[in-house]
Parts: sequence; C-alpha cells; structure tokens
Amino acid sequence: MSSEYESTPFSFADFDLAAPLLQAVNEAGYETPTPIQKEMIPHVLAGRDVVGQAQTGTGKTAAFALPLLSMLQPTKDKSPQILVLAPTRELAIQVAESFTDYGKHLKNFNVLAIFGGQDYSIQLRQLQKGVQVVVGTPGRVMDHLRRGTLKATTIHSLVLDEADEMLRMGFLDDVEWILEQLPNRKQTALFSATMPQNIRKIAQKYLHEPVEITIKNKAVTAQTINQRCLITAGGLMSKVEALSRILEAESFDGVLVFVRTKIQTAEIAEQLTALGYLAAPLNGDIQQSTRLRTIDQLKSKKIDILVATDVAARGLDVERISHVINFDIPFDTESYIHRIGRTGRAGRSGEAILFVNPREQSMLRSIERATRQKIQTMALPSITDINKKRIENFKEKISGALLGDIAFYEKLIEEYLQETQADPRRLAAALAMLTQGNTPLLKPEPKFAPMAAPESRRSVPESRRGMSENRRTKPAENRPRARKNMAVQLPPEEGMERFRIELGNDQGVKPGNIVGAIANEADINSKFIGRIAIYDNYSTVDLPFGMPEDVLRVLQRARIGSKAMKLQKIIDDTSLAAPGTAVQKPKRKSTETRKKDQYKGVPANAAL
Ligand code: AMP
Repeated sequence: MSSEYESTPFSFADFDLAAPLLQAVNEAGYETPTPIQKEMIPHVLAGRDVVGQAQTGTGKTAAFALPLLSMLQPTKDKSPQILVLAPTRELAIQVAESFTDYGKHLKNFNVLAIFGGQDYSIQLRQLQKGVQVVVGTPGRVMDHLRRGTLKATTIHSLVLDEADEMLRMGFLDDVEWILEQLPNRKQTALFSATMPQNIRKIAQKYLHEPVEITIKNKAVTAQTINQRCLITAGGLMSKVEALSRILEAESFDGVLVFVRTKIQTAEIAEQLTALGYLAAPLNGDIQQSTRLRTIDQLKSKKIDILVATDVAARGLDVERISHVINFDIPFDTESYIHRIGRTGRAGRSGEAILFVNPREQSMLRSIERATRQKIQTMALPSITDINKKRIENFKEKISGALLGDIAFYEKLIEEYLQETQADPRRLAAALAMLTQGNTPLLKPEPKFAPMAAPESRRSVPESRRGMSENRRTKPAENRPRARKNMAVQLPPEEGMERFRIELGNDQGVKPGNIVGAIANEADINSKFIGRIAIYDNYSTVDLPFGMPEDVLRVLQRARIGSKAMKLQKIIDDTSLAAPGTAVQKPKRKSTETRKKDQYKGVPANAAL
C-alpha cells in the first residue's frame, strides 16, 4: 500500500469521550472519526465555543452530540442541559434520534424533539417527565420558553444546527431571542454549510472566542475516470437493488464498493455473495494479514468485489479495479477523490459511480466543485437493459463453448437425434434450459400492468410541476383493454414509490384527508404527493422515492381523524391486486409556505 493518502488513521478511542459514548459509537460500526469530528470533538470537550462550516452528511451531528453528551451532568430531575435548534422538524427528529442513539448507554437519559404541528400535550408530558436534551425548531422552542414549560436556567449548552438554513427560513429574530433567554449558557456551537455575513455577526455577538473549523476541499482532476451518479432512495434495500442492477448492467473486472461502517462491509459483501458474486469485506477490524490476503485474492481474480471502508482501502493499488462504487457518499470531498483514485490506475480508464440520496445533494455539489467537473446523472439500469445483457452473456457463453473441445458431446447429441428424431432447435433449447437450472435466465418485470407504463412515463415531467390531466388515474373499469376482474393498477411514476395506508372507503377516507395528513404531518409539500387510490379498507399513495426513515416514522404514526394511517412502503405490489376506485388527488394549496420542498428537494431525475 502506498502512502498517497495523507491523513493517518485515527480512532474514537483517541478522544477523551466517556465510555458509554465510545461503546455506542463502536456499536454503530463507525471505524474512524470524520474530518469534522476529528477537528471539532477535542475543542467541544475542552469547553470551547465552536463554529463549524459543515453540511449534512459530514458527520457533524456526532461532532457536537458526542462531546456534549460526554459532559452531561447527572441530575435528579433530569432538567434540560443541552438545547439544539434546527430549522425543520425533519432535521430536529433526525438530530434527536442521533442523540438517542449515541446516548443509549447513558443511565436515565432522555431526548425530546419539539416542533410545530405536533400536539403540545405530548411535548409537555415529556418535558415534565424530564429530558436532558431538547432538539427543536425555533418557533416551538420559543413557545415553550415563553410558557415556562421549557426551563431556560438549566441549559448550559446550545447548538445552532444548519444556521444558514434557519436564517433563510426567517428564524433570525427567533434564534436571537432564544440566545438571550439562556442565562447560564456556557458553551455554544454553531454549524452552517455556508458562512454569510449575518451568520458571522451572530457568531461574533453571541459566541465567546469560537474555534472556527472548516474542512477544506482539495481540488483534483481525474481525467481517466468517468464519473457518474445515481440518485437513489435513502433506504438500504433500494441501494442494494441499485448495486445489483449496476453490477449486472456494467462490464466490470474488479469492483471496489465503499460503505460507511464496518458492519455494512460484511452485510453488503454477504448480500453480493448470495447473489452469486465473488465478494469480500475489507474493514479496519479485520486483521492486517487477512486484509492483505483479501487484496491478493482480488489481484488474482479469486474475488471480484471488495466492500470496504475508507480506512481499510487507504492507498489500495490494484490495477484491475475497473469500477469504484460509492454505495454511501463520503463525508468529505478528499475521501471521494481518494476513493475514485482506486480505479483508472496504471494508465487505464476507470468508472466511478456515486449513490446520492435526495438529501445528499449538497455533498454532491461540493464534490463537483472540488473535482471541477459535473458528475453526470445515470439512469438506474432497467429490467429490460439487464435482460438484454443476460441474453448477450448467454449467447457469448454458447459461442465460447462452441470453440471448446466438444467432440464427445457432438457424438452424444448425434446419437440422441438419430434415436429420437427430435428437432435440433428444440433439443438445443432443452439443453439451454438444463444449463440454466432452476434460476430463470431473465429477471422478472415488476408485476405492474404493462399497458399502463407508457402513459405513466409520458406524464413524468408534469408530475414534477404538479397535477396534470394526463396523470389522472382513470377508474379501473373505464380503462381501455382492462379485463374484467383483472387487477389493473398504474405503476408509480418514475421517481415515485407507492405506499399503503390502512384506511379506505369503509373508514370514510377521502383523497383530501390523505393529502392533508401527509402534507401537514411530514411537512411534505403537497405538489410532491402523487396518485392516490382508495380501496374498500385501504388506500395507496405515491410519494417521491427516498423517503427518509424519520419521515416514514412520522407518517406511520400520523392519523386521519382518530385513526392511524399505518403508512407502509409497498415492496410486493401483489398486495394491490384488488381492483378499486382510483381517484385523483384534489388540487390543494400547500399549508406550508416557508418550508422547503420535501425531502429537501427531491430531484426530478430520482431513479430509485
Ligand atoms: P450527519 O452529517 O451528522 O447528518 O451524519 C451523516 C451520517 O453519517 C449519519 O448517518 C451518521 O450516522 C453517519 N456517521 C457519522 N459519523 C460517522 C463515522 N465516524 N463513521 C461512519 N458513519 C458516521
């Protein structure tokens, strides 16, 4: 291995973090601190105020959560000690969940997310029970401070997360008001992706000699590497499906798949092995001798795919790596540049593919800035593409076999043909079937009614702008060629996926109720809510691909009237078999004007 990657491995154990936090980090499978964590954690532990220029995806949450939790004081009444302000309810929930995860081994520890739109009584109950960490949107935090339901006096640490976003959303006055209400504030951390003048002013006015940390982006040009990105859903399953389709559609030699955690290296390698690939994990927990052996196996073609963390793949130099797949987007641009540099070695060309979920677009932009090139978006290989490739490969196998020594079999077949008078073409087909065994040669198409697809595809552009006439779902019985009693259901449009709600006609649900519940509870702009179909005792709704887990959780609990929606993603579309009355979502004004488009700007070309 070469030493071309400058930074030395560094572990969480090198920080002075409390043992329960180290245990949580270890269990999360984090191998090494991200650059922002490495720089920031020691300063926060030392009690300094900090300003971090970092965006989502850099690991910034752990950069403040771990040291602040490490310094939590044991108190009897569990009064709030840490307050985090976040611009959106989505981020507040996400940050609260991270605190809960990192603090899971702390005794008697509670975190609460407070945000607008949620019933006060739930928040009040939790606040009365006692929580050490409160994560909230500015408006709701102000309300609680004014009412005295959130006690300002015990809060000693304040975090302003995504400060530029808070200011963009018009929360400047609220944030300043909150800053002034905390008489015992001892430490403040401010995070912002950009540092406009008004953020600097806040830092100057309210922070005490803050340490400023910016993770610099080194620029490189990697001409021999063809870079592409695929917009994926955030979910693990859809990324695994995307990976398997890419591996099928691309012609590769050696592949390096980058993931974030040690646990994932093993999981993804296992899944690839189950799919028939020669894959192995590579992470920092694996003994050096085993790691070297694995790399040798890649070199000697005993394995084709390595699933690695950044640390384990540092300096890896294997000529046959034709593809680097960034299954998880890296934390910083430097890691990206290092990762893709594992291909295109020794004057060869290489392919780099980056999976980006809709919330990671800002890191994608940073990478583009750092590499000074636009990364082309690729489409997810379709089932048709994959099957074309499978047929091509199958034919190639036949051509290869024809070049081999097949004299024995030629004789055998000759004999067979004479004995049976079988048609040679049918005989060849029977042999082909035998070689294929129980696995069908072709990947099955999704079980949607094929006739519906062209209509759906045509309507894609309109769907991004809002509802249009041609994307209305006609009642099943009116659709041309729809056979009686046959399940005919339009597939979700490109970039959308279908969810099931356990409420339907029998429960008196109307499309407007569904739109209202989703738009209000999950803060999803109603223009992103797609086709709705209401059946007797359930309904379906199409939503943009890539719904983050936290949003899904909110929607699972959301209610229409007094009944829970129990929203679930439909994985197996056979559950849609019953023909029902498909209805169009009514046009409806968004109730939310200052929040951004949901999932932070779902791209029009969302592929999976
Ligand atoms: P954040 O930028 O805080 O939103 O974090 C982005 C993602 O990175 C989250 O899913 C974290 O769980 C994950 N993460 C944070 N720090 C690390 C680390 N040191 N190693 C691996 N994953 C991490």
